Amino acid sequence: MKKILLVLLVSILFGCSSLHEHKYSKANYQQPAICTICQKESGFPLQPDFSKYNIYLNMDIGKTYQLTTVCKDDKTIYTIANVEIVEYINDYQDDNHKKDIDFQWKRVVLKLTFDDNNVVENGASINYLTTNYYNIGQYVSSYNYNHDNSCYEFTVNYYGIDYTNCRLKIYAFDNDWKNENDEYIKEYVLTFDFYIPIGFDGMVVGIRNAAIDASNFSYFYEYYDSEQFLLFRLD
Ligand SMILES: [Zn+2]
Repeated sequence: MKKILLVLLVSILFGCSSLHEHKYSKANYQQPAICTICQKESGFPLQPDFSKYNIYLNMDIGKTYQLTTVCKDDKTIYTIANVEIVEYINDYQDDNHKKDIDFQWKRVVLKLTFDDNNVVENGASINYLTTNYYNIGQYVSSYNYNHDNSCYEFTVNYYGIDYTNCRLKIYAFDNDWKNENDEYIKEYVLTFDFYIPIGFDGMVVGIRNAAIDASNFSYFYEYYDSEQFLLFRLD
Protein backbone atom coordinates (compact mmCIF):
# COMPACT_ATOMS: atom_id res chain seq x y z
CA MET A 1 0.00 0.00 0.00
CA LYS A 2 2.79 2.38 0.92
CA LYS A 3 4.46 1.56 -2.36
CA ILE A 4 1.35 2.40 -4.35
CA LEU A 5 0.99 5.73 -2.54
CA LEU A 6 4.60 6.56 -3.26
CA VAL A 7 4.19 5.74 -6.93
CA LEU A 8 1.04 7.85 -7.06
CA LEU A 9 2.80 10.75 -5.34
CA VAL A 10 5.78 10.53 -7.67
CA SER A 11 3.57 10.38 -10.75
CA ILE A 12 1.56 13.38 -9.54
CA LEU A 13 4.74 15.35 -8.90
CA PHE A 14 6.19 14.56 -12.31
CA GLY A 15 2.87 14.82 -14.05
CA CYS A 16 2.21 18.41 -13.00
CA SER A 17 4.28 20.09 -15.69
CA SER A 18 2.35 18.41 -18.49
CA LEU A 19 -1.05 19.19 -17.03
CA HIS A 20 -1.80 21.81 -19.64
CA GLU A 21 -2.99 21.90 -23.16
CA HIS A 22 -0.03 22.92 -25.31
CA LYS A 23 -0.47 26.34 -26.88
CA TYR A 24 1.65 26.33 -30.03
CA SER A 25 2.97 29.40 -31.77
CA LYS A 26 3.07 29.26 -35.57
CA ALA A 27 6.14 27.72 -37.16
CA ASN A 28 8.39 30.15 -39.05
CA TYR A 29 11.46 29.81 -41.28
CA GLN A 30 13.79 29.66 -38.26
CA GLN A 31 11.77 27.61 -35.73
CA PRO A 32 9.09 24.91 -35.57
CA ALA A 33 5.85 25.54 -33.67
CA ILE A 34 6.68 25.98 -29.96
CA CYS A 35 4.39 25.72 -26.92
CA THR A 36 4.31 29.13 -25.29
CA ILE A 37 3.89 27.52 -21.84
CA CYS A 38 6.46 24.70 -21.76
CA GLN A 39 8.59 25.45 -24.90
CA LYS A 40 7.85 21.99 -26.34
CA GLU A 41 8.59 21.94 -30.07
CA SER A 42 6.27 20.42 -32.63
CA GLY A 43 7.03 19.67 -36.28
CA PHE A 44 9.64 21.51 -38.34
CA PRO A 45 10.51 25.05 -39.41
CA LEU A 46 8.84 26.18 -42.67
CA GLN A 47 10.54 24.91 -45.80
CA PRO A 48 12.69 27.57 -47.50
CA ASP A 49 11.65 28.38 -51.08
CA PHE A 50 15.13 27.51 -52.34
CA SER A 51 14.69 23.89 -51.28
CA LYS A 52 11.04 23.83 -52.37
CA TYR A 53 11.98 24.89 -55.92
CA ASN A 54 15.35 23.06 -56.08
CA ILE A 55 17.39 26.22 -56.50
CA TYR A 56 21.14 25.77 -56.08
CA LEU A 57 23.62 28.07 -54.39
CA ASN A 58 26.47 27.48 -56.80
CA MET A 59 29.05 30.17 -55.94
CA ASP A 60 31.78 30.30 -53.30
CA ILE A 61 34.06 33.16 -52.34
CA GLY A 62 37.31 33.46 -54.31
CA LYS A 63 36.49 31.04 -57.14
CA THR A 64 35.80 32.09 -60.72
CA TYR A 65 32.72 30.77 -62.52
CA GLN A 66 31.85 30.90 -66.18
CA LEU A 67 28.37 31.82 -67.28
CA THR A 68 27.20 31.83 -70.87
CA THR A 69 25.22 34.96 -71.64
CA VAL A 70 24.44 37.21 -74.60
CA CYS A 71 25.85 40.47 -75.91
CA LYS A 72 24.20 43.85 -75.47
CA ASP A 73 23.81 44.95 -79.07
CA ASP A 74 22.96 41.57 -80.55
CA LYS A 75 21.12 39.11 -78.32
CA THR A 76 21.81 36.25 -80.70
CA ILE A 77 25.56 36.44 -80.09
CA TYR A 78 26.86 34.61 -77.06
CA THR A 79 29.70 35.49 -74.74
CA ILE A 80 31.18 34.16 -71.52
CA ALA A 81 31.08 36.09 -68.24
CA ASN A 82 33.78 35.14 -65.73
CA VAL A 83 32.06 35.78 -62.41
CA GLU A 84 33.76 36.02 -59.03
CA ILE A 85 32.75 36.97 -55.47
CA VAL A 86 35.66 39.29 -54.71
CA GLU A 87 34.47 40.40 -51.27
CA TYR A 88 31.95 39.28 -48.68
CA ILE A 89 31.68 41.08 -45.34
CA ASN A 90 29.20 39.45 -42.98
CA ASP A 91 29.14 42.38 -40.53
CA TYR A 92 29.86 45.46 -42.62
CA GLN A 93 30.26 48.77 -40.77
CA ASP A 94 31.48 52.25 -41.69
CA ASP A 95 30.22 55.85 -41.29
CA ASN A 96 27.38 55.25 -43.76
CA HIS A 97 26.60 51.70 -42.66
CA LYS A 98 25.94 51.74 -38.95
CA LYS A 99 24.72 48.84 -36.87
CA ASP A 100 21.44 49.36 -34.97
CA ILE A 101 19.75 47.53 -32.12
CA ASP A 102 17.99 45.14 -34.48
CA PHE A 103 19.74 45.69 -37.83
CA GLN A 104 23.13 45.13 -39.40
CA TRP A 105 24.75 45.54 -42.85
CA LYS A 106 26.13 42.81 -45.06
CA ARG A 107 28.19 43.59 -48.15
CA VAL A 108 29.00 41.42 -51.13
CA VAL A 109 30.98 42.44 -54.22
CA LEU A 110 30.77 40.61 -57.56
CA LYS A 111 33.20 41.07 -60.42
CA LEU A 112 32.33 40.12 -63.99
CA THR A 113 35.08 39.90 -66.57
CA PHE A 114 34.59 39.54 -70.33
CA ASP A 115 37.51 38.91 -72.64
CA ASP A 116 36.28 37.45 -75.91
CA ASN A 117 35.94 39.11 -79.30
CA ASN A 118 32.15 38.93 -79.29
CA VAL A 119 32.03 41.35 -76.37
CA VAL A 120 34.58 43.66 -77.96
CA GLU A 121 32.31 43.97 -81.00
CA ASN A 122 28.85 43.76 -79.41
CA GLY A 123 29.12 44.79 -75.76
CA ALA A 124 28.02 42.90 -72.66
CA SER A 125 24.68 42.98 -70.94
CA ILE A 126 24.52 42.28 -67.23
CA ASN A 127 21.51 40.68 -65.56
CA TYR A 128 21.86 40.50 -61.82
CA LEU A 129 19.24 39.48 -59.29
CA THR A 130 18.70 39.68 -55.56
CA THR A 131 16.28 37.51 -53.61
CA ASN A 132 15.43 35.89 -50.29
CA TYR A 133 16.43 32.25 -49.77
CA TYR A 134 13.40 31.61 -47.53
CA ASN A 135 10.54 33.56 -49.05
CA ILE A 136 10.83 34.70 -52.66
CA GLY A 137 7.21 35.88 -52.89
CA GLN A 138 7.51 38.19 -49.89
CA TYR A 139 10.72 39.65 -51.29
CA VAL A 140 9.19 40.38 -54.69
CA SER A 141 5.94 41.83 -53.32
CA SER A 142 7.66 44.11 -50.81
CA TYR A 143 10.64 45.22 -52.97
CA ASN A 144 10.44 48.85 -54.07
CA TYR A 145 12.65 51.87 -54.61
CA ASN A 146 12.56 54.61 -51.98
CA HIS A 147 13.53 57.90 -53.65
CA ASP A 148 13.96 59.75 -50.35
CA ASN A 149 16.56 57.27 -49.12
CA SER A 150 17.95 56.46 -52.59
CA CYS A 151 17.79 52.74 -51.95
CA TYR A 152 15.56 49.73 -52.35
CA GLU A 153 13.36 48.63 -49.47
CA PHE A 154 11.92 45.22 -48.72
CA THR A 155 10.50 43.02 -45.98
CA VAL A 156 11.89 39.81 -44.52
CA ASN A 157 10.38 37.54 -41.91
CA TYR A 158 12.81 36.46 -39.18
CA TYR A 159 11.68 34.28 -36.26
CA GLY A 160 8.07 35.03 -37.18
CA ILE A 161 8.44 38.82 -37.21
CA ASP A 162 8.11 40.89 -40.40
CA TYR A 163 10.92 43.43 -40.64
CA THR A 164 9.49 45.95 -43.10
CA ASN A 165 12.37 48.43 -43.27
CA CYS A 166 15.15 46.30 -44.74
CA ARG A 167 17.25 48.14 -47.32
CA LEU A 168 19.46 47.43 -50.29
CA LYS A 169 21.96 49.74 -51.96
CA ILE A 170 23.46 48.65 -55.28
CA TYR A 171 26.53 50.23 -56.87
CA ALA A 172 27.55 49.27 -60.39
CA PHE A 173 30.84 50.30 -61.99
CA ASP A 174 32.39 49.34 -65.26
CA ASN A 175 36.11 49.76 -65.73
CA ASP A 176 37.58 50.98 -69.02
CA TRP A 177 38.65 48.37 -71.52
CA LYS A 178 42.04 46.96 -70.65
CA ASN A 179 44.47 45.49 -73.12
CA GLU A 180 46.44 42.56 -71.75
CA ASN A 181 48.57 40.39 -74.06
CA ASP A 182 46.61 41.58 -77.11
CA GLU A 183 43.34 40.65 -75.42
CA TYR A 184 40.74 43.25 -74.63
CA ILE A 185 39.23 42.88 -71.18
CA LYS A 186 36.11 44.53 -69.80
CA GLU A 187 35.28 44.41 -66.08
CA TYR A 188 32.10 45.19 -64.20
CA VAL A 189 31.96 45.47 -60.42
CA LEU A 190 28.64 45.18 -58.58
CA THR A 191 28.42 45.99 -54.87
CA PHE A 192 25.35 45.01 -52.84
CA ASP A 193 24.85 46.42 -49.33
CA PHE A 194 21.98 44.81 -47.40
CA TYR A 195 20.49 46.29 -44.22
CA ILE A 196 18.75 43.37 -42.51
CA PRO A 197 17.84 42.00 -39.05
CA ILE A 198 20.92 40.98 -37.08
CA GLY A 199 21.76 37.36 -37.86
CA PHE A 200 19.40 37.02 -40.83
CA ASP A 201 21.07 34.64 -43.31
CA GLY A 202 18.66 34.60 -46.24
CA MET A 203 19.84 37.25 -48.72
CA VAL A 204 20.97 35.91 -52.10
CA VAL A 205 22.64 37.69 -55.03
CA GLY A 206 23.28 36.32 -58.47
CA ILE A 207 23.87 36.69 -62.17
CA ARG A 208 21.83 35.06 -64.89
CA ASN A 209 22.00 34.54 -68.62
CA ALA A 210 20.71 37.75 -70.20
CA ALA A 211 19.14 35.76 -73.04
CA ILE A 212 16.28 34.61 -70.80
CA ASP A 213 13.11 36.55 -71.49
CA ALA A 214 11.61 37.01 -68.03
CA SER A 215 8.98 39.56 -69.00
CA ASN A 216 6.03 37.17 -68.59
CA PHE A 217 7.03 35.88 -65.17
CA SER A 218 6.66 37.19 -61.63
CA TYR A 219 9.21 34.96 -59.89
CA PHE A 220 12.57 33.78 -61.11
CA TYR A 221 11.93 30.16 -60.04
CA GLU A 222 9.39 30.01 -62.88
CA TYR A 223 12.21 30.20 -65.43
CA TYR A 224 15.08 29.01 -63.23
CA ASP A 225 17.68 26.67 -64.69
CA SER A 226 20.80 25.92 -62.65
CA GLU A 227 22.99 26.10 -65.78
CA GLN A 228 21.92 29.67 -66.46
CA PHE A 229 22.19 31.12 -62.96
CA LEU A 230 25.05 31.79 -60.54
CA LEU A 231 23.81 32.38 -56.99
CA PHE A 232 25.50 33.27 -53.70
CA ARG A 233 23.90 33.35 -50.25
CA LEU A 234 24.96 35.90 -47.63
CA ASP A 235 24.69 33.46 -44.73
ZN1 LIG B 1 3.17 22.98 -23.45
